Formats: sequence, C-alpha cells, structure tokens
Amino acid sequence: MPLSNSKNHQLTLLIVHAHPDDESISTGGILLKYSDNGVRTVLTYCTRGEAGDILNPDFVSPQPGLNITEIRKIELENALHVLNVDSVNFLGYRDSGMAGMPENQHPRAFAQADKKEATARLVKIIRSVRPQVVVTYNEKGTYLHPDHIMANRITLAAFKASRDADYPIGDGDEPWQPSKLYYTAIPLERIRRMHAAIVDRGEEPGFDPEVLGTPEEKISTTVDVRKYLSRKMMALHCHQSQMNPNSIFRRMTHKVREEAMGFENFECVYGCPIRNGKEADLFEGIQP
Ligand SMILES: [Zn+2]
Repeated sequence: MPLSNSKNHQLTLLIVHAHPDDESISTGGILLKYSDNGVRTVLTYCTRGEAGDILNPDFVSPQPGLNITEIRKIELENALHVLNVDSVNFLGYRDSGMAGMPENQHPRAFAQADKKEATARLVKIIRSVRPQVVVTYNEKGTYLHPDHIMANRITLAAFKASRDADYPIGDGDEPWQPSKLYYTAIPLERIRRMHAAIVDRGEEPGFDPEVLGTPEEKISTTVDVRKYLSRKMMALHCHQSQMNPNSIFRRMTHKVREEAMGFENFECVYGCPIRNGKEADLFEGIQP
C-alpha cells in the first residue's frame, strides 16, 4: 500500500457529504484510517444541516440561545477534530429537508440548486484540492434524501468536468483528473438481516432495506475499520442534537455494531481495475 505514516500529503481523499453528521456515519472509519496513514483528508459539505431538528430529547445545548445551525456547527467542529480531518469546505447551499418538507422550497435549498452552478463550485474545490480518490453517495442518495441525491449528481458531473480543459477555469485553476470515484454502500443482505431482526423483536424498523442496500455484486471495496470503531462512534456522538434515541445506531447490539460500523463498503464507479474479487483499500493501485 503506497502510504507512509507521516502526513506528506502525497495522497488526498475528498469526500462530498450533504450534511454535518453524514461524515461520521458512513465514512468516519476511512477518514480515521487514511488520516492515520498519512493521507490528507478533505470534506466538502453541500449544506450546513439547517433543516435538522433536535432529535435527542436529552440534548443540552452547549450554550443557551443557539439556533440549530450554530449548534450543528459546534457539533461538526468537534466531530472533525475527533476524525482528524485536514480541511473542510462548504458549497454554500441550504439543507432542503426530507422530500415534501417546506424547506424544499427555500430559495437556497440545495435540492433546488442550479446544477451547473453547484457543479462549478465543486469543480473549483476538486481542482484546488487535487484528490486521487473522491467518495459520495449513490444515485439513490443512500436513503432518497433530496440533498444526498443532488450531492451524487453534482459530484458525478464535477468528477468528469474537473479534468476537462475546456471547462471554464477560474483564476489559476488547472484541470485535474481524480483517479477513482466511489459511492458509499450498505450491503443489501446485511441490512435485510438487520431489518428482519428488528421485525422479529416486534419493533418498527423505520427503514426500507431494499432502498438502503447495495447488492453484493456491486460492492467493490470493503475497508476494515474495526481498529477505529471507538473513535468513529465518538465522532458520531459529537452530533448530540441528531442522536435520536430510536435511531438504528442507538439500538444496535455490540456485535451488530462491529459488523455494521466496523467495515465500510463502497461501490467503485470509476477507475477500478478489478473485475473479479474485491479490494480492501480505496487507494489500491494508486501511486503517490
Ligand atoms: Zn445527510
């Protein structure tokens, strides 16, 4: 594996997320692992999670009088510190909320954004950060959240446009071709088993495994992040306002948590030479 243990920043990982807290859930392990191995880790958020509610009835605000955006800013800063993230960018859009919420109509709602404008903002970041590996959500936005779906669309467009010498270039930008593009993935069989176990206990799962899951044959990469699991969970718990007591993360047994959170899975959509078998490293085959 072409990684060193010093942060020489010859390799860069860029992850595009829709909202604060998404980084810890699906990519907390790879952020910790690659950071520990000397890779520069960069996060880009499309929104600041302005449409989120306080989902945790036990939540105590760090300071009185803070609004949800201010609360989520503090929570994110704490999580990024735990995850040892090198830098963070915001595209400047507003959280659209789930499909059908009034926030969908806000003039700055990300899901309503001009796709070309949003893509251009991300191209600028890609050309400046120059990542070898880019990660975002799949076409379903993992769970059909309009902001996650939009994040997928603009990341796909920006991944292609950033290498195009004819794409409008801002001051001093040079075209850049990232080597690989991945979508985060939840193995379909595993999420079906989790769903069935919750139903067997007589509880309401609150999620559709057929939406969340990616079939095994599409999963190219499984990264073992068990070594980082406690720090990943620590980062997730930094987002206290979002910790719904009924969420799947709170209801997992230790064994299920290790299986579900201790491995992060990805679908390679560009740049993976493997046809048969799987890889265990997003940077496999990439020379610094
Ligand atoms: Zn999200």
